[in-house]
Amino acid sequence: MFKIIIFAVIGYVLYRAVTKKRIVVRPDTSPDAYREADEMVQDPLCKTYFPREQGVALEHQDEVVLFCSMDCLEKYKIALDAKSNDATDGRS
Ligand SMILES: [Zn+2]
Repeated sequence: MFKIIIFAVIGYVLYRAVTKKRIVVRPDTSPDAYREADEMVQDPLCKTYFPREQGVALEHQDEVVLFCSMDCLEKYKIALDAKSNDATDGRS
């Protein structure tokens, strides 16, 4: 009977040690998990960081570029068109 109490105490202490460790470890591991789930991306136009899922996507030459707003997407598109026009003008 006494052994059972000792085992219970040891078990409780071990349980506490494990849960304490987990609490200490969590702050190191959870930011990474958060980063994956809610990754921050940079708007190439205005350089603002925003969560990936809130971005506005533009497909450009098999690449997806994300913007913080439709406004930035439109401005970027105009800039791209101007650039590609310059490039074709330069070549010909
Ligand atoms: Zn922007």
